[in-house]
Amino acid sequence: MKTAHRKQRLTLLVLRDAQHSVRQIQLSRPLMIAVPAAAILSIAGLIVSLQIQSAQTIMGLEKQLTLKSLEAIKMEVTVTDKDEAIERLNKAIIQLSGEAEQTKVQMERVQQLEQELQQFIQKHGSLSGQTSSIPDDNDQHVGGEFIAVHENEMLSLAQETQDDFVEIQQLIASMERHIPRTLDQAQETQEKREGTPSLWPTTSKRLTSNFGYRSDPFTGRSAYHAGIDIAGKIGDPVYAAGAGEVTAAERSGARGLYIIVKHPNGLETWYMHLDSLDVSVGDHVNQGETIGKLGSSGRSTGPHLHFQVVKNNQTVDPIPYLQ
Ligand SMILES: [Zn+2]
Repeated sequence: MKTAHRKQRLTLLVLRDAQHSVRQIQLSRPLMIAVPAAAILSIAGLIVSLQIQSAQTIMGLEKQLTLKSLEAIKMEVTVTDKDEAIERLNKAIIQLSGEAEQTKVQMERVQQLEQELQQFIQKHGSLSGQTSSIPDDNDQHVGGEFIAVHENEMLSLAQETQDDFVEIQQLIASMERHIPRTLDQAQETQEKREGTPSLWPTTSKRLTSNFGYRSDPFTGRSAYHAGIDIAGKIGDPVYAAGAGEVTAAERSGARGLYIIVKHPNGLETWYMHLDSLDVSVGDHVNQGETIGKLGSSGRSTGPHLHFQVVKNNQTVDPIPYLQ
């Protein structure tokens, strides 16, 4: 048995390079079995570990797949949200476009009114021969031909709406420039109109003496009458024929109690033979304001108002001024 055992020994020769000697390794029988078994075991182990690895890989892949499908669902939700958002946006554009259109029409109407107002001022504001120059402003309507480059109707509508808003902004800018000037002109015109002595100066309309040459009521001799006489009752209100500043309010011989009001454009109105005065020098009076009471003071034969208009220091016929 021992011999058999001895014969069954396995000799391994280990060959290395030239500098080293050949080594001899003798393996016993148990080792002879152990080596291939170990090899098989290690291969089996490798296979098992590979299997575990692949299982893990598959699990990982499955996990990834689940994530991907979740993402896909998420994407679907996002797309639905986007569709809804686009729908909402479309509705908003339609509404906005309607509003823009309406606003544009309103702005154009307002601008038309402003132009009419300017024409009115030009027509009625040139009483003093002053002509206000309003430059043509046709350059405010810019834009040109609209060429729809988008196939999508909503985009075109959005573009048109934007164009409308640009036009509205230009209209507003133009109005912002013009309206203060128009208002100034309107105010100036109003001041001029109110400052022009055009209002009949008392309640009575009974004219007892005209402007110009007449026979003097005291002497019977030819005399120049610098104004008009309006008969009335003592205490009747005397009105400022136009807006202006009081430059005289006093008593003086023949004039009696009298008032002078200075108006724009070198005009003055004089009110004589008053019973009392309601204003003082320096007062600003509005057209139609009561400035005194009708009387018979000074060189007068009976209660009346002597009313005269002075233009650039010369007496003129008041009648053409009075409406
Ligand atoms: Zn008179």
